[in-house]
Order: sequence, then C-alpha cells, then structure tokens
Amino acid sequence: MKGLVIKNTGSWYSVRTDDGRTIESKIKGNFRLKDIRSTNPVSVGDRVDIDINNEGTAFITEIEDRKNYIVRRASNLSKQSHIIAANLDQAMLIVTVNYPITTTVFIDRFLATAEAYRVPVKLIFNKIDRYHADDQEYMEALIHLYTTIGYPCSKICAKKEIGLDELREELKGKITLLSGHSGVGKSTLINKLLPGVNLKTGDISEYHNKGMHTTTFSEMIELPDGGFIIDTPGIKGFGTIEMEDAEISHYFPEIFKHSDKCRFGNCSHRHEPGCAVIEAVENHYISESRYRSYLSILTDKGESKYREDF
Ligand code: GDP
Ligand code: ZN
Repeated sequence: MKGLVIKNTGSWYSVRTDDGRTIESKIKGNFRLKDIRSTNPVSVGDRVDIDINNEGTAFITEIEDRKNYIVRRASNLSKQSHIIAANLDQAMLIVTVNYPITTTVFIDRFLATAEAYRVPVKLIFNKIDRYHADDQEYMEALIHLYTTIGYPCSKICAKKEIGLDELREELKGKITLLSGHSGVGKSTLINKLLPGVNLKTGDISEYHNKGMHTTTFSEMIELPDGGFIIDTPGIKGFGTIEMEDAEISHYFPEIFKHSDKCRFGNCSHRHEPGCAVIEAVENHYISESRYRSYLSILTDKGESKYREDF
C-alpha cells in the first residue's frame, strides 16, 4: 500500500494511504537509510510503501525518491542533519510591510534559501486593510520588484478574508511550507483556511505540538479541499542552510544572470574591477536592496542570520 507521511513523532509515522486511511507506521529495524547523514530516514511529505499488519499498524518498507527536502543541522557540532519535510510543492512567505515590518533582507534570505532547496516561492502580502498610502506605495514597489525577478506576489487581508479564495486554489492538492515573521498573521490565515478549527493566534506550533518540543516531531496540516500546510516547531522558516560564497549569487536569479559578464570568473561582486553585477546595480538593472541582501549573506553567514527569528 502506498501513502504519504503526514506526521512524525520520532518513533511513529502517520501515513495517509492512497485509499484514504491513516495508518500508524514504524520503520523496520534493518531499514536501509536513504541518506545516511540524516538523523531521520523518513519525514513528513515522504511518499512511502507500507505493509499493514493484523493490528492495523504498519511497517514502512520503501521511501520514494524525493524531489526536494529541507533540513536542519542536528547540532552545531555535528555534520548530521534532520530532514524537516520532503517533497514541497511550494513555499509561501507571509509578508507585512508594516505592523510588523518585514525587511527586504529577511525576504531575500528566505528567497535565496528556497532557491537553494529548489522550492518555488510566492510572497503573500497580508494586512492590506491596515496600510496607509505610504505603506501601500512601498508594498506596490516591492511587488513590482519581486514579480519582475520572477517571484509571484499576492495581496490578502486574512482578517477580513480578502484574497483567500485565490489562495485556497493555489494550496489545493499541494504541499506548502507557510512561513513569515511572527505577528504577520499566519495563525489568523490558517484559522480562516480551516473552518471549524480554532488556532490560538500567535501560536500555531503550540496547538500542533501539544507541548512536544523534540527536534524529531513535525506534522502537516491537512486542508479541507486537499493539500497540506507544513508547520514545524522551533523553526518557522527554512532553518539553516550552508552556502558556499561562490554559490550565493546562484540563488539571486537576476544577479546570477549578470555575473557571466564579470571580468573575473571567480568574481564575488563585492569590489572587483570589471564586475558586471556592480555595474548593473549602478544602472538600476539590479535593485540596491537585493544587492545589499546578497552582500549581507556573503559577509555574515553566521547560522543565526538564516533563522527566521534572527
Ligand atoms: P502570527 O504570529 O503570524 O501567527 O500572527 P497572528 O495570526 O497571531 O496575527 C498577529 C496579529 O495580527 C493579530 O492581532 C491578528 O488579529 C492581526 N492580523 C492578522 N491578519 C490581519 C489582517 O489581515 N489585517 C489586520 N489589520 N490585522 C491582522
Ligand atoms: Zn562581479
């Protein structure tokens, strides 16, 4: 029987079978690890084969190849990582230009990480009911910037349920990582998407974890129209990812596009003569805010900088 792992409590995995049952499953002791560097061979989002036994539980016998997965390093000292979720169809970053301010550095770090993980991202601007003229103008400028680079944007008001029908369509049948600074309205939004369930605003994780704060626990929230939202405890976004200096520009599509015209093949686009990226910034082909975010990742790759709550 094939199915999807929707919950992971460390020892048990809940598998939603293709015929609609939820079967509590375990991994066989001699299970061959797909990725020996990870502390958990199976994660939410994995498609698996299970053998159901007489008691109605099952053993996971096979994991399908993942199209992508997001990880967190098990500890600062260890090279081992923990797979938080697999097979993400998309990530949505909830952004507020005010109340609270989401900075472009924050947005760009999220986007770069998503690029590194090969997860398509969309920016969702929330609280449009609250913005005054200058906030609105700034929001439109950001929307113009990011759509030009290739990141779709939409505007919603979670509180008054404006723009949510379109969002529901986009979530249907997909596995979506929902992220954003605390206070941007994530819980409010999820409440509106899940009629009947009332999440306490301000603390999605609390509701889902019921006090379990182990690093191995994660769960997907099932949407009424099909599809899942991923919420992970401790890490609200992607967590940490290690990028080599030379790699970082690959995750800024418009910077990468200009970089092949730089004089030096190993140009860091910081100060080198003949740098086509710096020239493109000066000529406004690349936005200064994006360039600043690129530099901030390059110069300050400390782990904390990649965390959402930095
Ligand atoms: P979270 O930390 O991202 O889960 O944010 P919450 O859902 O707890 O929302 C934080 C605050 O913003 C709460 O007071 C919400 O009522 C408020 N809020 C959420 N969405 C909107 C919105 O669309 N407009 C306005 N004006 N307030 C909102
Ligand atoms: Zn350069």
